[in-house]
Order: sequence, then C-alpha cells, then structure tokens
Amino acid sequence: YLCGKKKATDLAHMVWKHVVQKGDTVLDATCGNGFDTLAMLNLVADDSRKGYVFALDIQKDALDSTSILLEESLNLDERQLVKLVNICHSKMEEVVPRNALVRLVAFNLGYLPGGKKEIITRPETTFLALEAAERILMPGGLISIVVYVGHPGGREELEAVETFAARMPVENWICCKLRMVNRPCAPVPIFLFRR
Ligand code: SAM
Repeated sequence: YLCGKKKATDLAHMVWKHVVQKGDTVLDATCGNGFDTLAMLNLVADDSRKGYVFALDIQKDALDSTSILLEESLNLDERQLVKLVNICHSKMEEVVPRNALVRLVAFNLGYLPGGKKEIITRPETTFLALEAAERILMPGGLISIVVYVGHPGGREELEAVETFAARMPVENWICCKLRMVNRPCAPVPIFLFRR
C-alpha cells in the first residue's frame, strides 16, 4: 500500500479504514484544510445509514478552507453529515452529544498549511484534548495522532503525546508509534486502539 504513498497522513488514513464503519460517528480534532475531514466522511457516509463527522478547529480560516473543500467534493446531503465547529479541541465534549458513540478521534497537529504558522497546537491543550478523546471514545475505537517534529515546539508536543499514550491502561488500550527510521524529522503517526 505504501509504495505509492509518502505521507504520514496517508498511513493514518489506511489505519482508519480498518477501524471505521459506515454509519459511525467520528471527530476530526484539527480540521485545517479539510483533507482529513473529507477522508473521514467518505468512510462513514453511505446511502442507507447516517454517519457523522464533527470537525473542529480553533481558526475560522481553517473552517472556511474545510468548508470550501467539502463544497467542491460532496453533495448537499453528504455535507449535512459534517458539523464544523470553531472551538479548541480540549472542549470537544461540548460539541459531541452525550450519548454519541465515537469510533475515531483524529488529530493532525501543528499549524495550518498555507496559514499563520504562529497558530499552532500546544502540548498543554493537546494533552487535555487527548483526555477528552479518551472519555468520548467507544470500545473498539481509535485515537489517531500525527505529530510534526520539524517545527519549534514539535518535539515537546511529541513528548506530551507519548507521555499520555504510555500511561494508558494495558487491559483496555494498545498504543503504537510509527517511526520512519530513515527520515528522523518525518511526522510521527501514533495510534491508540481501545479494546
Ligand atoms: N487535518 C488538517 C487537514 O487535513 O488539512 C490539517 C491540520 S493542521 C496540520 C493543524 C490545525 O490545528 C490547524 O488548522 C490549526 O488551526 C489547528 N489547531 C491549532 N490549535 C488548535 C486547538 N487548540 N484546537 C483545535 N484546532 C487547533
């Protein structure tokens, strides 16, 4: 599969496909330009069952960019399955209905490509958001994180994510990190599978 693919996000999408089912509810914690949101919608939406994507970003510009991509790529019915919310991902529980079963929470950390580089995910809020994701995720679900280490603060954020992952109880969670050993500065995909 990876022969034609180069990006850590391609790898994350590949893993999502093995976990997410049609009709699921999923959450994009950093929707940015909308590529992950679109990939998630394609996994959950079908004609008969309704799947939902909650797509969050702290930047209005990012939500606008996601909105444009969705308009270009989806019909109206499909677009209605996506809820775009301008909020910090640490507050995701304010967005998702209390009784929702969330199969996937995905983080693609760092800054908005093509946007302001100073607006960036931060270890403290990322950690709080991971705690919130742990609370809303259903059994059999996945927390997927792509961490960028090439920018200032990236290594500290990786450390925060690893600290979070390392303390997950082994009875209920399988936590993996993928390192591209021939590209030390490549983004790092981390997957937390809930049993
Ligand atoms: N998933 C996106 C895509 O497919 O295009 C790329 C995401 S981009 C690497 C990271 C995004 O995280 C930026 O759009 C940024 O505004 C957003 N962000 C930064 N801090 C955030 C926070 N506390 N809560 C939610 N989003 C945040």
